[in-house]
Amino acid sequence: MAADLATLAEPYAARLRRADTLAEPGAPGEMRLQALWRDGRLPAGLALPDGTPLEVLDPGRWNRGPGPDFLGALLSFGGAIRRGDVELHLRPADWDAHGHAADPAYAGVILHVTWAPAPEAKTLPPAVPTLALRPFAGRGGPLALDALPGPDAPAPRPCRARLEAEPGARDRLLAAAGAHRLLAKSRAFAQALRVGDPFQAFYEGLLAAMGYGRNAAPFRRLAREVPFARLEGLPSLRRLAVLAGVGGLLGEDRRALWDLWWGSGFPPPLRPYAWDFRAMRPQNHPFRRLAGAVGVLHHAGALLDLPLDGLPKALSEASRTLCAALALKGAPIGANRANAIVTNLFVPYRIALGTLGAEHLRDLPGEDVSQPMREAWHRLSGALDGLPGDGLRQQGLLQIHADFCANPALSCARCPLAGE
Ligand code: SF4
Repeated sequence: MAADLATLAEPYAARLRRADTLAEPGAPGEMRLQALWRDGRLPAGLALPDGTPLEVLDPGRWNRGPGPDFLGALLSFGGAIRRGDVELHLRPADWDAHGHAADPAYAGVILHVTWAPAPEAKTLPPAVPTLALRPFAGRGGPLALDALPGPDAPAPRPCRARLEAEPGARDRLLAAAGAHRLLAKSRAFAQALRVGDPFQAFYEGLLAAMGYGRNAAPFRRLAREVPFARLEGLPSLRRLAVLAGVGGLLGEDRRALWDLWWGSGFPPPLRPYAWDFRAMRPQNHPFRRLAGAVGVLHHAGALLDLPLDGLPKALSEASRTLCAALALKGAPIGANRANAIVTNLFVPYRIALGTLGAEHLRDLPGEDVSQPMREAWHRLSGALDGLPGDGLRQQGLLQIHADFCANPALSCARCPLAGE
């Protein structure tokens, strides 16, 4: 079944292979960005995304060791003068990838400077603004990178003209890019299926998804420290007791579960789990999410056989089964989250198992529309509304955005989606 998906994805994969040969020599690397910042060779009229004018009074001391790239910079945020550190990256999400949020050396950062405006950072402290330079390129000043257009460039993107010249071309491209993305996700599962317990990878993915981003890491650690093989055969309540006990999520108010865990022979962890409880509403507590995951695990066999169009609702209902038994109100997996879990977990896993092919993907439900989806759609179509509602084409938008539009080494002029 993966073969027909690969056929669907191939036109996109071919364009992507060309991108590797077309990376723009003039696109700035991180060192070049740092040199521009150090020398003050920045365009005029810099402003933060909310419109606050930004003036660099002193770029700070270039730090070539561990910690932020520039220390002790003096900046004017709309007239308010602040001194602090500055970190530079090519893309905002590099902040997450480099793990700066967990490093106290970065606590003094007052500005995050990037080349591209996306993909956005998820762990950047809300008080630290991001200044993306690419939208200012070509507006004069010494940062003369006119060939790299910003998202507000007035001219239509070249991909749009090409796609509009051929009926159905945009639709086919989005489907191919979506299939490419789902196939790529399925490869991690396929690898896990070859080397270990076939269900362990699904179980890990499910628990990580219940972390909703900020608690994904401790949830994934829990799934590895309590592998599914050790839970098999246990009733759901005992599974929850073990997972919550090992994860340090049981308090005095859950004495019965504590006793179940204590009698199970699973020891406490050697080091505590790093749950993030900041500003957390009770319904988002990891214990409740864990109860939802255990409910889903109980019904996993049936859920993995369901057609995609009915799966999100069934998934949401399965997540509430154990919660109902514990008098926890509501469904830990709401409608939008269920769609995302189907797309990012069930579909890739079933592709890897060989039980899902290209013909099933037209029923893939759509997720919440995100900023990268909006931006890619606007570039490809020139429209702000009318985004595809189905999951396959939404995945295609995300893939095109990541591979081409937010690729700091590639400009529209050199984009493989713009020409032959
Ligand atoms: S980078 Fe490529 S896909 Fe993105 S807007 Fe430019 S031409 Fe279109």
